Amino acid sequence: MNNERETHGGERNPAICGMGWAEYVALVEHFHSYAAPGVVLGGIMVDLALRHFPKGVLFDAVVETKSCLPDAVQLLTPCTTGNGWLKVLNFGRYALTLYDKKKGEGVRVYIDGHKLPICKNFYDWFFNYVDKKDLPSGVLLEEIRLHGEEVCGVEAVTVDAAFRKRAKKGRVDNCPVCGEPYPLKDGPMCLACRDGSPVRRPGEGFVPDFERPHPDLKIIPIEEAVGKKALNDMTKIVPGQSKGRAFKAGQVIREEDLDLLRSMGKGRIFASDRLPDEKIWAHENEAALVLGAGMSGEGTDYEREPKEGKVQITASRAGLYTVDVDRLKALNLIPDVVCAARRGCEVVKTGDMLAGTRAIPLYLERRFLERAKAVLTKPLFRVLPLRKAKVGIVVTGTEVFKGIIKDKFAPIMTEKVTALGCEVVHTAMAPDVVEEITKGIKACLAAGADLVISTAGMSVDPDDVSKAALLQAGLTDYVFGTPMLPGSMTLVGRIGEAQVLAVPAAALFHTITAADVLLPRLLAGQTFTHDDIAALGHGGLCLNCDPCIYPLCGFGK
Ligand code: ZN
Repeated sequence: MNNERETHGGERNPAICGMGWAEYVALVEHFHSYAAPGVVLGGIMVDLALRHFPKGVLFDAVVETKSCLPDAVQLLTPCTTGNGWLKVLNFGRYALTLYDKKKGEGVRVYIDGHKLPICKNFYDWFFNYVDKKDLPSGVLLEEIRLHGEEVCGVEAVTVDAAFRKRAKKGRVDNCPVCGEPYPLKDGPMCLACRDGSPVRRPGEGFVPDFERPHPDLKIIPIEEAVGKKALNDMTKIVPGQSKGRAFKAGQVIREEDLDLLRSMGKGRIFASDRLPDEKIWAHENEAALVLGAGMSGEGTDYEREPKEGKVQITASRAGLYTVDVDRLKALNLIPDVVCAARRGCEVVKTGDMLAGTRAIPLYLERRFLERAKAVLTKPLFRVLPLRKAKVGIVVTGTEVFKGIIKDKFAPIMTEKVTALGCEVVHTAMAPDVVEEITKGIKACLAAGADLVISTAGMSVDPDDVSKAALLQAGLTDYVFGTPMLPGSMTLVGRIGEAQVLAVPAAALFHTITAADVLLPRLLAGQTFTHDDIAALGHGGLCLNCDPCIYPLCGFGK
């Protein structure tokens, strides 16, 4: 790299990556359509970074703003967004980093805002104090030329390995909504269809209900409807007393039904002798059945006869109810299709209600039903069976071990796991000594435990050594620190094939803690990443209701 600084009449004349100043400014004009101060400044920053980067090492670049700076990197280095060697993060910081792709070591050049006030126009421009059109652009460029390098900070940084790895695009499929190919890893539909795109074909995008076409149904007075079929279920509501289906779709209206219809406030009904084109329209009952069938997965079932246009999904076995939340939202983004579900990750019994689904209009546009089918290529709801685990319990605490205090933990945990169908195969007591607790854990494993629950010893006190013992016993893949109160010191992980749940002392005082939320998920075979555990913070606060109404509350949901 050209390291030299030319001097003309005492002025500093920076060379930009081997180019003279005027030559670089002309190049910017050609590429960016005008000599944008940001791209000009970017040239100084790229040059500065290159001078601090070891020669002969292959580098990638990352910039932290979308404006101007990426253009300078693309002009002056082999890195472009297209070839993937330049990544643009939209942090809004005027900074660029060149880094060793293999090792992650790099140099970061950024604008030091505290140094900027040395040049008035540069400062006003960068901090947006003055309207761009009021800035004398010649003077501004001159200040950038003279002081650009001075106001930059340079620092050594490392770039995370996960970021350096090139994201694989993975499998591609046609989007069920727009029909164009997109990476499947983005979810059940392409991101443009999920989030909305500002680029639209005529008639595309969200159209409110009242502006969409509706089938041209003939409406007749009920007196003329005798001998004809009802097109939809009709509901009788007695305020505060009852609500239910009084007429079923397809039922023939008789003379003697007229009084009932009148009492329900129905003066007119849809004539059944002129039905909408089936190729374009799907009746609400057909739609509800398609939806119900598509969304119910293993361990769930759906009503085979829609009522008032709705179909309910229920648990067909006991277990942990789970929801594909992204897919549920994708479905609800389809016009005129709704599904309401209870919160996921709850233990349910056979027959428990899980969700309800329906089309909003009496006749749903078939293209929306097709879209729903495409979203429902995988079910939304499942009930996972809970494994009948062989549980080993290790109770820690010197006072308990010596019999000074009577242990309460073993009975509490035994009750919790047996309530979920598990069996306790071994219970060990250990004082607050790492080796002794480790021995207890190993005794549980030797007794055939596939779930080891250790109690207490998880807080910040020096006597709390359960974590150290778990590690000594071979703990791996663990997450410690759960954003739930009570129970934030809860740990999940595994020793070999056995699952580990470390329960803090909070469980002695509180009926329900984080462990009660995690236990059924462990029994359903779920594993936890830091990401999964971090998500528990929303809904992680117990309100200490008196009496406790868990699970009929928001804790752990
Ligand atoms: Zn799409």
